[in-house]
Amino acid sequence: MSNTDYDVVVIGGGPSGASAAEQLAKQNYRVLLLERAFRIKPCGGAIPPCLIDEFEIPEDLLVARIRSARMISPTEKKVDMPVGETFVGMVDRDVFDPWLRERAVTAGAELRIGAFKALHYDDDGVLHIDFQSKEAGLESVSVTTRSVIGADGARSNVARQAIPCSKNARWVLAYHEIVEAPAANDELYDGDRCDVWYQGDLSPDFYAWVFPHGRHASIGVGSETDGFSARNSVATLRAKTGLDTCQTVRREGAPIPMKPLKRWDDGKGVLLSGDAAGVVAPASGEGIYYAMLCGKIAAQTMDEFLQVGDARILGDARRQFMKLHGKTFWALGLLQRIWYRSDKRREKFVSMCQDKDVQELTWQAYTQKQLVKRRKTAHLRVALKDIGNLIGLTRAS
Ligand SMILES: Cc1cc2nc3c(=O)[nH]c(=O)nc-3n(C[C@H](O)[C@H](O)[C@H](O)COP(=O)(O)OP(=O)(O)OC[C@H]3O[C@@H](n4cnc5c(N)ncnc54)[C@H](O)[C@@H]3O)c2cc1C
Repeated sequence: MSNTDYDVVVIGGGPSGASAAEQLAKQNYRVLLLERAFRIKPCGGAIPPCLIDEFEIPEDLLVARIRSARMISPTEKKVDMPVGETFVGMVDRDVFDPWLRERAVTAGAELRIGAFKALHYDDDGVLHIDFQSKEAGLESVSVTTRSVIGADGARSNVARQAIPCSKNARWVLAYHEIVEAPAANDELYDGDRCDVWYQGDLSPDFYAWVFPHGRHASIGVGSETDGFSARNSVATLRAKTGLDTCQTVRREGAPIPMKPLKRWDDGKGVLLSGDAAGVVAPASGEGIYYAMLCGKIAAQTMDEFLQVGDARILGDARRQFMKLHGKTFWALGLLQRIWYRSDKRREKFVSMCQDKDVQELTWQAYTQKQLVKRRKTAHLRVALKDIGNLIGLTRAS
């Protein structure tokens, strides 16, 4: 199959696709990175320090360094959770994503601007990719390839065409407004602090947020509930926080997947990665780190597949990712189901966040994506307190 145009076509040049393309190009594969560059990805832009280290992100891409999170309960009880020695980085996706794509190009990938339309296999098993090319005046273009990585985000068109189980995917619909940040910090807004609002009238099943971004701030909300008005909710939150008087820069929304798909490959030559595969942490909606890690794993798996030619290898990508983070996703899914269900539970949840063990483990899990083994007794204490709180709550209700 060496007479194809490419070895791999990566569809979608967000964090996942750009990372996969960079890695494969470094290994001298002929890589096409196809990106429609249709709009700025709606995103809070919070990234953990382990992402900055692992994916060698230059410090000058960070527009803010967050030193604490403040959890706000239904009765407006406020719990500060200082990050400690480290910080949460904030990136602007209109700069971050093009930078990642440019790095893939420097590594040897070919970047083309166009919208993926269709894929099919011919009788020889060669994949044909059709896309509408922006560079060619929106002409339809077709290329051939040995394999495809579908990294075209939530509600992936690649997944729809190649992976039947993707139609069962679950999403939270997230919406946010980007505003000019207030010039000075006060009790309501602090440029070094993320505020996370757990109130049923702001979100019946997820949370609302205020994330500072240097000159700008993101004020947003997520929910899975049909008919829920995210716009009204953000308007309420802006009024509560005094951010209603700030100039609005953009209004935008997008789905956040809430569960990894059961299958990421088509058993022939297509593999999904990132949001397209559903890898976003439940409860928090954190997806950038997982998308980039997934891109790296997808690239390693594709490398083996291209060398060996056995399509069963493609299943290793999901197995490897779930081995690393499946348990965390499961635990966060449980946390979301238990604590995001009613204001009574949200109140208790925010109270639990006062606990120093809870704070330490939360930040450790977020910033490092692993738990330090010597803190096993603290894990046990948190689990017991969690169960104790839940039993107390069930008895009281
Ligand atoms: C409002 C909101 C706030 C969020 N906040 C955070 C946060 O603070 N921190 C965090 O970690 N995560 C956050 N997330 C989640 C995070 O944005 C995603 O998990 C992450 O962007 C996934 O990366 P990805 O590369 O898989 O997909 P995407 O970033 O969605 O990239 C997909 C790419 O594919 C391209 N594409 C799509 N269709 C086609 C096509 N047909 N042809 C060609 N190209 C195509 C798109 O243009 C895009 O560039 C948030 C999400 C939302 C919606």
